[in-house]
Amino acid sequence: MQSRFVSAFSISIIALTLHLSAQNNASGSWDARFRAIPDAANIGEYMKRLSARPHHVGSPYDKENAEWILAKFKEWGWDAQIETFTVLFPTPKERVVELVAPTQFRASLEEPAVAVDPTSGQKAEQLPTYNAYSIDGDVTAPLVYVNYGRPQDYEELDRRGISVRGAIAIARYGASWRGIKPKVAAEHGAVGCLIYSDPRDDGYFVDDVFPDGPMRNKTGVQRGSVSDMPVYPGDPLTPGVGATANAKRLDIKDAQTLTKIPVLPISYGDAQPLLSALKGPVAPADWRGALPITYHIGPGPARVHVKAAFNFDLKPIYDIVAKIPGATFPNEWIVRGNHHDAWVNGAADPVSGTAPLLEEARAFGELVKQGWKPKRTIVYTVWDGEEPMLLGSTEWVEQHEQELAQKAAIYINSDGNGRGFFGASGSHTLEKFINNVAKDVEDPETKLSAWKRMQANRIATGSPDAKAEARSRADLRISALGSGSDYSPFLQHAGVASLNLGYGGLDDDGIYHSVYDDFYHFTHFADTNFMYGRALAQTAGTAVLRFADADLLPYDFTDLSDTVRTYVKELQNLLTQEQDRIKEKDREIDEGVFAAVNDPRRPLLAPKVEEVPPAINFAPLENAAAALTKAAERYKKAADTARPSAANAGTLAMVNARLIQSERQLTDPAGLPRRPWYRHLLYAPGFYTGYAVKTMPGVREGIEEKHYAEAEAEVLRVARALDRETALINAAAGDLEQIR
Ligand SMILES: [Zn+2]
Repeated sequence: MQSRFVSAFSISIIALTLHLSAQNNASGSWDARFRAIPDAANIGEYMKRLSARPHHVGSPYDKENAEWILAKFKEWGWDAQIETFTVLFPTPKERVVELVAPTQFRASLEEPAVAVDPTSGQKAEQLPTYNAYSIDGDVTAPLVYVNYGRPQDYEELDRRGISVRGAIAIARYGASWRGIKPKVAAEHGAVGCLIYSDPRDDGYFVDDVFPDGPMRNKTGVQRGSVSDMPVYPGDPLTPGVGATANAKRLDIKDAQTLTKIPVLPISYGDAQPLLSALKGPVAPADWRGALPITYHIGPGPARVHVKAAFNFDLKPIYDIVAKIPGATFPNEWIVRGNHHDAWVNGAADPVSGTAPLLEEARAFGELVKQGWKPKRTIVYTVWDGEEPMLLGSTEWVEQHEQELAQKAAIYINSDGNGRGFFGASGSHTLEKFINNVAKDVEDPETKLSAWKRMQANRIATGSPDAKAEARSRADLRISALGSGSDYSPFLQHAGVASLNLGYGGLDDDGIYHSVYDDFYHFTHFADTNFMYGRALAQTAGTAVLRFADADLLPYDFTDLSDTVRTYVKELQNLLTQEQDRIKEKDREIDEGVFAAVNDPRRPLLAPKVEEVPPAINFAPLENAAAALTKAAERYKKAADTARPSAANAGTLAMVNARLIQSERQLTDPAGLPRRPWYRHLLYAPGFYTGYAVKTMPGVREGIEEKHYAEAEAEVLRVARALDRETALINAAAGDLEQIR
């Protein structure tokens, strides 16, 4: 099935004008022809090549891969070049983690080669295990176990009278993004932070460990960035501007996104002796992992020495940018991207997404040879430096911000890809569009459409409400984007409508950001025959082609207004729940309930009395959402009944030019409170969750963090953004109504 716009137009165009009908029929067949080209075997070959050696930022193979990718694009007929930026990329100089009391143990901090895995032993080129953008430090202090290291975990510690002040916090990976753990530990006065992979989360508790199975073994370590991404991503030294050779740079000491305390990641082999040396209260049940020990919190008697020192060097990064110029609207851009850098060999992250993107590029090259001329310019981007902190994409977006603001209609991202169900998240103006794309792609294992299988999964696993909605709502909902891949600068800084696409959900693995994420692991435990790589290429390529060739750009605003109304309800409920929770808790404190039930042998302190949140006036948001809903329905009707013809091509072009600006209306150049880099008023990564999204973040985080006056002011700012969107949609609908 075609998207609503394409099918409506096909009929009217055939009736009305020969010229346009020929072109549109052709683009219909180009659409199906495109999907026949991607070949799983090619995707496997690209993966083998790109993951053959470690290829992190600054490594020889990172540059070799960039040059190889550039040559491929040229071979396939694209106008391609490498764009270089210069970024701060620290690498470790010295790493020490040792237990100094009550017994002594020195952590290995090594991931040994595995005999059956040929690339796991490429020691000379592997980055050691570390967390990028940790500061230098040398500390010896008592150890405290802080569970996942989220703000709520510290509330549990408070109730036990335990502080991390002057201590080293050990947190397990999971539940929040890793960079949140040292940030919150430092806010509570810790002097150092260790992050370890508990076998409960991605080790033997889940499945057999590598190389017998896919999960993390006792020496596997998760590398990764710990920069304060919720403040701004990209190069820490050049916030807001492209990190060109001559860009003005901050002093390292003034860079806001480096950690405040030293941080190192460790394996569970290295963590177990430290954790088993802790005494103090036994950890609450949901804090316990799967190590064969009793989990205690501390502090001490375990004392730990952590030393971390880094080479804070500037390194080049290589973005590949390739274009097929648009034949009719060269100044309207369809942008597609995936990163190419990895922490080590990175077969799953990112090459399982990079390789399908390359296969799309080859397929488009084929179509051009067969005579296809996209109406709009297609821009394929392959980013460097995603792993340290979205460096390649962020610097490119900052460097080309003005041009993107004028030209970019959509950004379509992917990253690591797996086997299973199709998943899409992103701008809700694109929800209907991507649903329609998924209806035309075949799931390789079931031969159902990718959409049908996704719907079945929602019905099988959803709550009763979710089941009913998956059966009855025309479009399956897509979730909002927080952070974690290269869409962030496009969506949240430049205001470009964005999608993140991928398949997955059927395979667990525990090799994320370790030396064991490589071709051997991928071809034994993941999408072993690259069939889902092919499905990703078909899906993302179809989305690119449809946006590039559409007569009327396929944005839809009814799903947006539906989502906005949901968010407004959620915020109202959040405030009520907070009021009720705090009222009840304060009452129990008053009644002496906590004192009466306390166990004197395992005493807990009563929680703190909090002020009950005041009422907030949501009326401006409710009114704005209602007006948006009305405009969205008017636009839908106008789009469904519009009769494009050669005679009104000018009107259509004007409408499209307006629509390209629609996501921009939802941003504010002043940005979010305390983090101006983030300009989107509907979507942002959580200040205390990291990757996980906060929707209407100014209002939501205002309530969660008890800045109630700020939340009320943010209600007005979001309402004004929705009003701007409503005005644009009404104007576009007015234009379309002229060509009924
Ligand atoms: Zn990635």
